[in-house]
Amino acid sequence: MKIKQVGDPILRTPSQIISQADFESGIVASSIQKMHAILNGIKSISDENGNALSAPQVGVSIRLIVLRIDGEFINIINPRIIERSESTFMFEEECFSFYNIRAKVKRYQSVVVSFLDEKQLEQRLKMEGEFSGLIQHEIDHLNGIFFLDKVEDKSTLVSIDYLLRDEPERLKVVKSLCDYMASDYMASD
Ligand SMILES: [Zn+2]
Repeated sequence: MKIKQVGDPILRTPSQIISQADFESGIVASSIQKMHAILNGIKSISDENGNALSAPQVGVSIRLIVLRIDGEFINIINPRIIERSESTFMFEEECFSFYNIRAKVKRYQSVVVSFLDEKQLEQRLKMEGEFSGLIQHEIDHLNGIFFLDKVEDKSTLVSIDYLLRDEPERLKVVKSLCDYMASDYMASD
């Protein structure tokens, strides 16, 4: 599968901190390449999607996340949240590992994340709103946690079939995204 689906034990396994040896072995570069290819594949099906992915979701248990911000990929290695806002917001979330379910999760309004980039340079990024929610969702993946684990108000849980019951065209796009994620990854993708 291009994206590991819920039930696969790798999604529940805390990911390893990336070491110097991992950079040298090429696993970081090859994982980044694979994640960019998959996010581009998702975006080619739906322009609204394909903005965030964690390495365990593509079958590599290392602490690596790719975000797309303003059209540019940011490769986030060994991320740590070093500041979080007191204020929170309810973020409506979805996940490529079980794409047919949505729900609302309480997230920090803003976070500051420190990480290494692909050149092993220390970076620091403040993220607010949607991107704050996205990075918190992806860091949870590195710890084996799903957004579903964090849903307090279960009445916000909704299936995509229900949500888009009056929008057959959009539902069709979501179904083709689900098919894409469950299809096999090939190096040419
Ligand atoms: Zn997810």
